[in-house]
Parts: sequence; structure tokens; C-alpha cells
Amino acid sequence: MDAKPHRDLLEELYERLLEFHGPQHWWPGDGWFEIMVGAVLTQAASWKNVEMALGNLKAAGVLSPESIRRMDGDELAALLYPSGYYNSKAKKLKSLAQFIGDRFSDSVERLKEKDVLMLREELLGIHGVGRETADAILLYAVGKARFVVDNYTKRILSRIGAIEKDASYSSIQRLFEENLAPEIEKYSEYHALLVRHGNSVCTTKPTCDRCCLADLCETGRRALGT
Ligand code: SF4
Repeated sequence: MDAKPHRDLLEELYERLLEFHGPQHWWPGDGWFEIMVGAVLTQAASWKNVEMALGNLKAAGVLSPESIRRMDGDELAALLYPSGYYNSKAKKLKSLAQFIGDRFSDSVERLKEKDVLMLREELLGIHGVGRETADAILLYAVGKARFVVDNYTKRILSRIGAIEKDASYSSIQRLFEENLAPEIEKYSEYHALLVRHGNSVCTTKPTCDRCCLADLCETGRRALGT
């Protein structure tokens, strides 16, 4: 497909998902550092369990880079218990907090000043930060227009027929970024809507008969015989 049909399709998907699910107001979280912590904790965890772990950190008064750096690793792991993989996530959070302190003096303003691609490379060098986590941090915590790709994005787009099943992270990201204007609000909402749709309609076993995208979707049209 050339760029225009892709642009039209992506815009149409966005408008329909927004109308169907309503605005999702992502990312849930108070302040940039809480959003970063949430982006790490949500790896292989439901948001409900992440909220419990964030609640523990807040109640203990340690939801800041400095506190995370200073506190004992086992104590931190105990607070993260509800989010699963708590020992590993404690190490990841310590690495992230160390990076924020060493490179940016715990200042989100300094993070914002940095070139987005260079910052992304640095984030990817932190223990436990992969592409999805790095892009979520860039978009939702730092305010840079990077499209976040996850398994829901891949599943929905491949069922629709816009990408191959085995499309790479970077090719899917390019598809969105080359066809949509770099608007932080729209990228934020679009990712949230895809997560919502993948959670509630285009699930492992898709419910195409109640999907707002069915007439645009190869899988949906096959399933419904239209
Ligand atoms: S029509 Fe079915 S397969 Fe296509 S996006 Fe909707 S739920 Fe998923």
C-alpha cells in the first residue's frame, strides 16, 4: 500500500476507536517519575497489580528517584510484590533511578531538552528497558512524540491486514510515525485505545460481531462472511 491509503486507514481506525471506547486519558499516574515507574512495572503485569505496587511505594513515601536509589533492594522488592517479578523489577527501578540521577540530576526538564533519538538510545542502555518501555517513557513521561507499539497493536493491525503477522517493532512504529503527524496527545490516545480494544474486543479470540472496525478488517470480514 502507498502512504495515502495507510494514512487514511490509520486515521479511520483512530476515529472509530475513539468514538467506540471514548477518550482513555492515558497515562494514569501523578507526575513524570510515577509514569516511568509504571512503565517498568507494567511489564508482564496487569495494570490493577501495578496500581497496588505504586500504592505501596506512595504509602512508604519512596516514589522519587532519590528514594529508590537510596533504599535497600530487598525492601524495594517487597513493596513491588503485587506487580510480579518483584526482585527483577526492583533492580530495573534502581537502574532507572540511577540513570535519571547521574545523567539528568533528577530533572525532567533536562530530559526534555535532550534529542529524542539520543535519549531513546540511552534509555535502551538501561537494565530492563526495552523498546516498548523506552517509548512509553518518552511519550508519556517526557512528552516526546514516539508511537508506542505493543502486542495489542501488532495483533489488531495484522488481523486487519495492514501489517504482516511477523512485522518488526520498528516497522510498525514507522508505519504510524510516517503516516500520522507527531502529535503527543494523539499518539497517547491512540496507543491507549489500541490497548483497550485489544483487551475488550480484539482479544485472543476476537469478538468481530461487536467490533467497530469489522468492515475495515480482513479477519472480521471473513468471520462475518461480508
Ligand atoms: S473485526 Fe475482529 S479481528 Fe478485526 S479488529 Fe475487530 S475484533 Fe479484531
